[in-house]
Amino acid sequence: MLRTPLHIVLIGPPGAGKSSVGQALAALEDMTVISTGAILRGEIKTGSLLGQEIARLIDAGDFVTDDMIQQVLVAQCGVLAASQGIILDGYPRNLAQAAALPGILAQFTRTIDAVVMLDIPDSTALTRLGGRRMCITPTETYPVHLADPAALALCAAQNGVLTIRPDDAPDIIAHRLAVYHRSTAPLIAFYQQHGLLRRVDASADPEFIAHAILSVLTTHPAVPAPRR
Ligand code: AMP
Repeated sequence: MLRTPLHIVLIGPPGAGKSSVGQALAALEDMTVISTGAILRGEIKTGSLLGQEIARLIDAGDFVTDDMIQQVLVAQCGVLAASQGIILDGYPRNLAQAAALPGILAQFTRTIDAVVMLDIPDSTALTRLGGRRMCITPTETYPVHLADPAALALCAAQNGVLTIRPDDAPDIIAHRLAVYHRSTAPLIAFYQQHGLLRRVDASADPEFIAHAILSVLTTHPAVPAPRR
C-alpha cells in the first residue's frame, strides 16, 4: 500500500523518457506531473523577454538558473490541492536544486517519498533523442519517434505537424548528455545516501515502466536515512 499523497522524483538522462513515464504514472495514481522543461517551453511560446532568455539557454543545451527554476516549482506547487500527489519530471537537475527541494516541498507540507532513476545507456538515449520529433496538433503537442510508424500515422491523422526540438539537434544532444553526466548524475549517489533512490530499467515502454515503478515502491518503500 502506497502512502498518499505520493511524491516521486524522476531522474535520468535526456531521452530516458521522464515525461512519458511521468504521464503514464499519473494515469495510474492520483498525481500531477510537474515538468519543468514543458513549463519553460510554455514560457518560450509566449514570446516574453524571459522566454527569449530561456530559449537561448535551452536551445544551447544548457540549464536555466537555479533561482528561475525554483520560482517555477514554487508557483506550480502553490496551485495544487493538498490531496494531490506530485511527480517531478526535470527537477532537481543538480545538487544545489536537490538541496533546495525539501525546503520548497516543506512550504506545502510535502516530502519526497522516492527518487526513481530511469536507467538507460547513453547509446539508447542518443538513438531516442536523435529520432525524436514533436507532433504539434491543434490541441496538443507530444513526442513521437521516427522509427514508430503507428505514432507517425496517429500524428498525421490528427493533422499534426512534425517538428524537431532545437535542443534535439545532434551537437546539442551530445552537450546535454555531457551536462547530465557532470551536473545531474551526482544526484544518484546523493539520493542513494539518503535512502530514497530506486532504479528502474527504462528501456521498456512507458506504461510498463510506470507499473514497474509502483511495484518497486510498494515492495521496497524508500526509507529516508536519518538526518545527521
Ligand atoms: P526537459 O524537457 O526536461 O528535457 O528540459 C528541457 C530543458 O529545460 C533542459 O535541457 C534545461 O535547459 C531546462 N530545464 C528543465 N528543467 C530544469 C532544471 N531543473 N534546471 C535547469 N534547467 C532546466
